[in-house]
Amino acid sequence: MADIKGGIGVEREHIFPVIKKWLYSEKEIFLREIVSNATDAVTKLRRLISLGEETARDIPDEGFRVDVILDKDEATLTVSDNGIGMTLEEVEKYICQIALSGALDFIEKYEGESDGKNGIIGHFGLGFYSSFMVADTVDVITRSYKGGNGVKWTCDESGSYTIDSDYSDAPERGTVIVMHLGDEGAEYLEESKVKEVLNKYCAFMPCDIFFSQGEEGSDEAVNDKTPLWQKNPSECTDEDYKEFYHKVFNDYKDPLFWIHIKADYPLNFRGILYFPKINTEFESLEGQVKLYYNQVFVADNIKEVIPDYLLMLKGVLDCPELPLNVSRSYLQNNGYVAKISNHITKKVADKLTSMFNLDREGYEKQWNDIKTFVEYACLRDQKFYSKAEGAILYEKCSGGYTTIDEYLDSAKDKHENRVYYASDKVSQSGYISMFEESGIQVLLLPHVIDTQFAQLIESKKDGIQFLRVDSELDSSMKGDENNELPEVLEIFKSVVGESCEIKFESLKDEALPAILTVSENSRRMADMMRMYASMGQNAPTFPTESTLILNSASPIIKSLAEKDSEKACLIAKHIYSLCTLTGGKMNGDDLKAFLKDSYSILSMI
Ligand code: ADP
Repeated sequence: MADIKGGIGVEREHIFPVIKKWLYSEKEIFLREIVSNATDAVTKLRRLISLGEETARDIPDEGFRVDVILDKDEATLTVSDNGIGMTLEEVEKYICQIALSGALDFIEKYEGESDGKNGIIGHFGLGFYSSFMVADTVDVITRSYKGGNGVKWTCDESGSYTIDSDYSDAPERGTVIVMHLGDEGAEYLEESKVKEVLNKYCAFMPCDIFFSQGEEGSDEAVNDKTPLWQKNPSECTDEDYKEFYHKVFNDYKDPLFWIHIKADYPLNFRGILYFPKINTEFESLEGQVKLYYNQVFVADNIKEVIPDYLLMLKGVLDCPELPLNVSRSYLQNNGYVAKISNHITKKVADKLTSMFNLDREGYEKQWNDIKTFVEYACLRDQKFYSKAEGAILYEKCSGGYTTIDEYLDSAKDKHENRVYYASDKVSQSGYISMFEESGIQVLLLPHVIDTQFAQLIESKKDGIQFLRVDSELDSSMKGDENNELPEVLEIFKSVVGESCEIKFESLKDEALPAILTVSENSRRMADMMRMYASMGQNAPTFPTESTLILNSASPIIKSLAEKDSEKACLIAKHIYSLCTLTGGKMNGDDLKAFLKDSYSILSMI
């Protein structure tokens, strides 16, 4: 029989409606809070035993365990443990006072957060009273490891409680929390739902957790109490890492490689970061970094703790030092968090550098899969760039990979500080082969992020310029003598009009009559405007500056001066069309006119 009655103070009365209503969308965390209290109770008792505490008796025959029991008929969800338990005084102190004031503090912070629901990460620290998100009435039945009377505390959602200070049905040692589920908690009467939440939050809690329903139970714990990240890297095999990855991230593919981080005092955190294959543009990437607090899952992808570019990876981080019951904005400016980020950044950069140094061939094979990550990380974080700089590769159009320093070194005599690249191997093939035939390597930068990355390198390395193959001719392609042919110039002017500048150069490749170039800067501006426009922003179209370079060494060009003007114009037009065709700049109408002219020329032969 209940011999003590009490009530939650008037000023505190609003806690129950607030817990029920405000945290509605996050209510599944109640199970994490209640189960982690149970595993804590076990951990505390284990510690007392290991310290030789007299009243703490030996390890129970059935082992330390937490049971989650679903009873549909009674509409209850029960969490029991054979841990430390509580005496009457402790129930009054911990449940009626400490847990309550903890929950009140939490609600206060939560109410104060201007960004509402997302204010507190994973609603960490709400504690015992979160059970009232799903339950109308909660019983705490407990007996302390010190022995003595069993205690039953029962509280309803109005905040009034009763305590039976001599409850004979209490377990021999430990605590049973019975949640009488109300309408708000009805979904937790489904076995699948309970299992799903246990799997999400409790999968790595440090004590065996068993689930049962009615008579049915399993001998197999639902959790892994010694997750891989807690082990020493030297004890873990590649197979262990892969298996852990498949299980935790439900990804049947193998990760490329991984980094096992064990940061000691004062950072004191652990984790494993996996590199999945990342070979698409960065917008479409979705990684998953799970944050744990002493093996208790907190939330996924917390950008306040993990640099956003690392969220492209998959991994687990366990940070027991993190102040998690604070707001997100507080974490953003937290020195400890900044140190964790720095440490992770350094470890990732170190890993890339060591792979590059120890197994360049293997590293090159993986480069295309990690390239987007590395480039994005460099763009987002200067520190990452300076640490990983030496391990950045560039693909060559002719095949294989190079570093920027190797490239510049090999270009020193020919085209110092100039890096030539192509953005499309097919449409720019004419230009690419022209450069390659002159012994100049062309890098392949096919994605938007590559060009942004090239600009980063330009800003970091003094005097370096990235030039697309169609932006200018390298001096090594030019011959010595350049004779301007004024008559030919006039013919081309009449054909091309104002659309581009025309000039003469003597090119070594005599077979090439002309080539069209677009200045790098104007093209970059135009590309940028196009990108803004495609994102729905108001951006003016930017004119590109093109130049038609006529090869004064070409017999065709030279012969134009002697031809009758009609023929000369037709040929000039055809040459210009071939240039626009090579540069991929021909539209539908141009193509029609080009075909018509081609047929006229054929009829002349
Ligand atoms: P926290 O776990 O963050 O301290 P809670 O509100 O969850 O806050 O719990 C308050 C206190 O109630 C705990 O610190 C603990 O002393 C006691 N408690 C809760 N659940 C149990 C349990 N299963 N066994 C023993 N003590 C418990």
